[in-house]
Amino acid sequence: MSTVFEYAPAPESRAIVDIKPSYGLFIDGEFVDGTGKAFKTVNPATEEVLAEVAEASDADVDAAVKAARRAYTRVWSRMSGSERAKYLYRIARIIQERGRELAVLESIDNGKPIKESRDVDIPVVAAHFFYYAGWADKLKYSGYGETPLGVAGQVIPWNFPLLMLAWKIAPALACGNTVVLKPAETTPLTALLFAEICQQADLPPGVVNIVTGAGDTGRAIVSHPDVDKVAFTGSTDVGKAIARAVAGSNKKVTLELGGKAANIVFDDAPLDQAVEGIVNGIFFNQGHVCCAGSRLLVQESVADEVMERLKRRMATLRVGDPLDKNTDVGAINSAEQLAKIRELSDIGEAEGAERWSAPCELPSNGYWFAPTVFTGVSQAHRIAREEIFGPVLSVLTFRTPSEAVEKANNTPFGLSAGVWTDKGSRILSMANRLRAGVVWANTFNKFDPTSPFGGYKESGYGREGGRHGLEAYLKGEDS
Ligand code: NAD
Repeated sequence: MSTVFEYAPAPESRAIVDIKPSYGLFIDGEFVDGTGKAFKTVNPATEEVLAEVAEASDADVDAAVKAARRAYTRVWSRMSGSERAKYLYRIARIIQERGRELAVLESIDNGKPIKESRDVDIPVVAAHFFYYAGWADKLKYSGYGETPLGVAGQVIPWNFPLLMLAWKIAPALACGNTVVLKPAETTPLTALLFAEICQQADLPPGVVNIVTGAGDTGRAIVSHPDVDKVAFTGSTDVGKAIARAVAGSNKKVTLELGGKAANIVFDDAPLDQAVEGIVNGIFFNQGHVCCAGSRLLVQESVADEVMERLKRRMATLRVGDPLDKNTDVGAINSAEQLAKIRELSDIGEAEGAERWSAPCELPSNGYWFAPTVFTGVSQAHRIAREEIFGPVLSVLTFRTPSEAVEKANNTPFGLSAGVWTDKGSRILSMANRLRAGVVWANTFNKFDPTSPFGGYKESGYGREGGRHGLEAYLKGEDS
């Protein structure tokens, strides 16, 4: 006799976080009032307003850049690498100590499931600070010289708020630069908590400055004349605008932009394992992942079987409260993003693809979208070409490896790809032919600070992570 268990929610307590009614800007080691307006940040799972946050004006950005320049000239660039490392190690340890608080706050402000913020985002954030702390006194072995650039202006998106912050701040500081960073307007809270961690770590004032705001604040940072380096992660459209804005200046630029990754399943692949990889590839973080495997290319001979197993697996995904430890798929980050996902999905249907959504009950408040898969998709469909940045998978089939490569590369993007074959047997022959910065074999969405990450084509340029990630923040061997 089989036992049927009642579903028992296991919500993480939010008592550990102390969300203030309003937040200022973090400039020169202090929280200060902004001179501009304020905006609200909401919990996307409930639409509850969490806090009012200052919107940094041009004058505020200028004050932050000046503080960063002072700290660079007087303190940070003069400090030895081993001294800088001590601060980075300290920050990494505090992130670990306050990991639960950071994970809960990230899930509340972003909508991602607590099991992801707790088990992926925050541990990888700490790992980034540990990893780059290790480089700070070994830059002479980097291959890119030891001379920092100066002040880095950094603008990040909302999908991995603290992780993107770590990818930007850890290498910049390790190399001796100071930073002015802007988090996305829908997810500012963990960056502001990180500012508190900088205070707790006694980081010298001005080394890290956090200015909150939207596109205008980002524009003010990247176009500020005293910024030496621009690091941007976000959409390809804004990346192009930034590339135009800094063209002709001496600013060094790295752009981490959008993607439309192919997840390629061959007929000899272990299918259950591949199905887990497909689910992880597109439903992890609600599909708000630049390298999400949003195009499934499956070999025709196993397509029906893969689809059947995939739908069965998708029907078991738990969609709901991000703070519930059982939740697999959380809330869509904003009403605006939900509207984009709905629009592109409706276009998919109108263009003739067949839509199937997992049968799940969605909460009545907040922003939600059921895990969805489109079959009968062709290369010409917009759902196959455009980044949806949501839990929506497009399925195409192929017969030969060459056809798989051709379809995988038939995109303006080139960030990542996945290849599923028996014991990874085809990985060497496939990886060299796929125009993607990262190619995973029999796995997907694996992030490690020692490994470089970045794109080809419209997915941007420059690498973050690993030794290669140091290049963006150093002047080069012969400086
Ligand atoms: P977005 O481009 O709208 O915004 C990103 C950031 O840029 C935000 O902080 C925003 O306020 C700021 N911004 C907006 N306009 C600006 C301007 N004119 N000048 C300067 N800053 C400006 O992107 P998003 O919707 O927040 O993020 C989703 C996008 O990010 C997706 O396309 C995704 O693929 C991409 N992304 C890429 C990577 C990567 O590593 N390649 C990682 C995560 C996300």
